[in-house]
Amino acid sequence: MIIGGGLTGLWTAYELQKRDPALSIVVLEKEIAGFGASGRNGGWCSALFPASTAALEKRHGREAALAMRRAMVDTVDEVGRAAAEAGIDCDYVRGGTIVYARDEVQWRAAQREVDSAQSYGVDALELWQADRVRARDARGAVYTLACARLHPAKLVRGLARVVEERGASIHESTTVLRWQPGVVETDRGRVRARHIVVALEGYSATVAQTRRRVLPLYSLMIATQPLDAQIWSELGIEHGQTFSDGRNLTIYGQRTADDRIAFGGRGARYHWGSTISPDYDRVDRVFRHLEATLHDLFAALPDLEIEHRWGGPLGVPRDWHASVTYDPQSGIGSAGGYVGDGLSTTNLAGRTLADLITGHETDLTRLPWVGHRSPSWEPEPLRFIGANAGLLAMTAADAEQRITRRPSLVARAMAPLTGH
Ligand SMILES: Cc1cc2nc3c(=O)[nH]c(=O)nc-3n(C[C@H](O)[C@H](O)[C@H](O)COP(=O)(O)OP(=O)(O)OC[C@H]3O[C@@H](n4cnc5c(N)ncnc54)[C@H](O)[C@@H]3O)c2cc1C
Repeated sequence: MIIGGGLTGLWTAYELQKRDPALSIVVLEKEIAGFGASGRNGGWCSALFPASTAALEKRHGREAALAMRRAMVDTVDEVGRAAAEAGIDCDYVRGGTIVYARDEVQWRAAQREVDSAQSYGVDALELWQADRVRARDARGAVYTLACARLHPAKLVRGLARVVEERGASIHESTTVLRWQPGVVETDRGRVRARHIVVALEGYSATVAQTRRRVLPLYSLMIATQPLDAQIWSELGIEHGQTFSDGRNLTIYGQRTADDRIAFGGRGARYHWGSTISPDYDRVDRVFRHLEATLHDLFAALPDLEIEHRWGGPLGVPRDWHASVTYDPQSGIGSAGGYVGDGLSTTNLAGRTLADLITGHETDLTRLPWVGHRSPSWEPEPLRFIGANAGLLAMTAADAEQRITRRPSLVARAMAPLTGH
């Protein structure tokens, strides 16, 4: 029994079917499959993991940290391979990511990042000099090939179709209220199951028994009209490439298969009591800010129609450390807390949960995120104050850096709280 029809739930179903086609698999989904973050994200299928390599090393030791990094890098290819194997056309192209360094502080941070990656020897990061990049004021960039651009809704809806064709049943418009070993209670009745996988990610905050496990943080996006080839060549972004810059408050963009810029960022505020509502998906202030940020990033951009605007919640655990758990006694497992890095990580979670549930001890089940327990978030009002203060701090950190031209003290103070 899988609770939540996003990529975590559906990759788990897909991988379980591969390991044992006779399994009877049911997915319970409150809305429609892919309704959550999985169907509306920025399409970066990256090797990013919310906890940095240094933070993983500190907590789990060097070998475990390196194993986690290798698994993440492999997962970028695995998503493309699995989608092709399943016959899902999701515009997957592994074009890599360009992260522009747009001032001296970002440039020095970029150099440190490349040096650090080299010392670990897993992530192949390249330092690009200014003459290779076209973003405004860019001193250079960090480039990695370990990221594919894809269309998230095509992937998750395709996966739902495939697992159904292979025998799983997906019950949409079914709200899970609570669960205990062997039983799941929904608004349409009780269901019995030997194994239960909780795959609610940001939405965990809306169910009483997991309310403080993650904090739902909103990320919002815009998509421009299609741009012509001349403009794309001035931007210096090729098909399949994704881009960002070195600021503290995350932004992310991709060149879509139909030549739009899909561009998103954080900055929308956290809502009291971890509430999630369709009203929070659209915030005009944030959409205007995203549009202005895009023009600030690329001087070559002409006036553009913004044709689409949307957003959604992602799940932030208290220590910014994603996890997979499974208890063979109770038969209950879960995965999530990917912060904004779940598009690929859900696939790794699905493969790992399938190994755990079918009782196979593998390299995946030995990865350090397996069995990791993040602390709970504080009750309100502390959660509200802390989360919104954190968002303000990240905005302030970028302003501080611009003014002082030094690494932000605010960002440094926040680093341990954000998985760094
Ligand atoms: C705007 C945005 C941009 C992002 N960009 C990127 C990106 O570029 N790259 C990246 O790696 N990650 C990105 N992310 C994060 C990524 O999308 C998520 O980490 C990932 O999709 C999580 O998948 P999931 O299946 O665990 O959760 P979800 O996709 O959120 O699925 C959970 C499902 O549970 C359902 N549900 C909720 N409550 C109940 C209930 N009570 N009963 C039954 N079902 C319920 C929901 O409807 C939903 O379908 C982004 C997220 C957002 C919101």
